[in-house]
Amino acid sequence: MSSSVIDFIATEARFGAHNYAPIGVVLSRGEGVWVWDTDGNRYLDCLSAYSAVSQGHCHPKILAAMVEQAHRLTLTSRAFHNDQLALFYEEIAALTGSHKVLPMNSGAEAVESAIKSVRKWGYEVKGVPDGQAEIIVCANNFHGRTLGIVGFSTDPETHGHFGPFAPGFKIIPFGDAAALEEAITPNTVAFLVEPIQGEAGVIIPPAGYFTEVRELCTANNLMLVLDEIQTGLGRTGKLLAEQHEGIEADVTLLGKALSGGFYPVSAVLSNNDVLGTLRPGQHGSTFGGNPLACAVARAAMRVLVEEGMIENAARQGARFLEGLKDIRANTIREVRGRGLMLAVELHPEAGRARRYCEALQGKGILAKDTHEQTIRIAPPLVITSDQVDWALERLATTLTQDFS
Ligand SMILES: *Cc1c(COP(=O)(O)O)cnc(C)c1O
Repeated sequence: MSSSVIDFIATEARFGAHNYAPIGVVLSRGEGVWVWDTDGNRYLDCLSAYSAVSQGHCHPKILAAMVEQAHRLTLTSRAFHNDQLALFYEEIAALTGSHKVLPMNSGAEAVESAIKSVRKWGYEVKGVPDGQAEIIVCANNFHGRTLGIVGFSTDPETHGHFGPFAPGFKIIPFGDAAALEEAITPNTVAFLVEPIQGEAGVIIPPAGYFTEVRELCTANNLMLVLDEIQTGLGRTGKLLAEQHEGIEADVTLLGKALSGGFYPVSAVLSNNDVLGTLRPGQHGSTFGGNPLACAVARAAMRVLVEEGMIENAARQGARFLEGLKDIRANTIREVRGRGLMLAVELHPEAGRARRYCEALQGKGILAKDTHEQTIRIAPPLVITSDQVDWALERLATTLTQDFS
C-alpha cells in the first residue's frame, strides 16, 4: 500500500462516522466495467455500486447529457415547471408501461413515498378505517435505511437501538404464499417485496411464488409493491424482474441504475389509483424531479435500451452462472443468480466471504461480501464474454484456496 492510500483511509476513519467497513482500496477513476485505484491498479468492478452503475462507469452519453443540462438549468424546485420533467415522465412511462410517476432521489425515499401512497389509497379508495392500515413485508428484506424502513427490518444490525418505530407492518417469510394469505386482513393495503432479495444474498423465490402473490393481492384488493430498486432496469436480464414471473406490480420502485450512477434519482411508478390520491402539498421533495436528474435519467434509460444492455445482461449472466457452477471447490455451498445478479455462497467451514473478497482484490476483481458467507457478483451490464471468462479464471483460483 502506498502512503497516499493509507492517508485517505486513515483520514476517513478519523473524521467519518464508522457506518461502513470498506475493502481497503481507494478508487479514483472508472470507465465501463473497470475502476482504478490511486496507485493506478485496475480492477473489474463486480459490485457496480450495488447495481447503480449498471450502464458502466462514466458512460459517455450519460455524462454528456449531465454536462449539457448542468450548463442550462439544474434545479427549479417543483414550485415551477421545467422542460425536462414531462419528457422524463413520458419516457419512463413508455419504457415501463406505467400510468403515473412520482420522482424522488434516493431509493429509500421512493420506498417511503410508496408506503405513504398505498396507505392513503387504503383510506381513500379501499375504505380502511383511518390509522388502521397494514402493510405486509418479508423477513430478511432490504428496502433502505430511513427510520420508517428499518423499523420493519428483521436484521438486528439494521434496527438495533434505533427505535421506537412506526406500527402498521406485518412480517412474513419470503417465498411463502400461504404465509401471505394468512397475514391478510381487511385492513391490509399492500404487500411490499423485492422480486429477488438482493442484500439478503441474492435469494430467488420458488417458481410460481409471484403468480400466487399476484392472485392473492388481486383477490383481496391490496396493492402489490415491487421494490425493483436493485433488480430493475436490466440487472436480471429483463427490464423488470417481474417479467420473469409473468406478472405486473401495482406499484414499482426504481432507483440506483435509473441514473447510471451519476446522481441520485428514484421513482415510484403506479397505476392511476395509488399515486392519483396525492394532492398538492401532501408530498414532495426539493430535489425530486429536478431538470438535472431528469436529463441524467433520460440518458441512462436510453443507453440501457439502445446499447442492448438488458439482452447482454441475460447473455453474460447465463455464461457467468454456468462458469461459476463449473468451479469445483469445496468452499462453495451454492451458486445462484439471475442475469448479472449473482452470488456464491460459501460453506461455513470455508471462512468468511470477506477474506475471499480481499483475495479477489489482489487478483484485480472488486466484489463485496454480504452476510458473512456470500460473495455477491454484479458487474456492469456492459461486460463482455472475454471479461466474464477473465473474471471466472480468477474466481476459480480464489475459491479453491482455503481461508478457514
Ligand atoms: C439499495 C436499495 C434500496 C435503498 O436505496 P438507497 O438509494 O440506498 O436509499 C431500497 N431497496 C432495495 C431493494 C435496494 O437494493
